[in-house]
Amino acid sequence: MGAVPKRKISKGRKNRRRAHHALQASNLVPCPSCKILKKSHAACPNCGKYKNKEVIKTD
Ligand SMILES: [Zn+2]
Repeated sequence: MGAVPKRKISKGRKNRRRAHHALQASNLVPCPSCKILKKSHAACPNCGKYKNKEVIKTD
């Protein structure tokens, strides 16, 4: 067996550690070209643009 904890982590300590594990809503900003809400620092899923250049082909 490799490295193994000497003591059991108590329910309280385990729950305190997991208090920070909740998912957070991603940071949404309006797209400068089509105004849809998109994730910041990512290409727009609606118009496929990033920094006013088309980087994803959209129909
Ligand atoms: Zn857009």
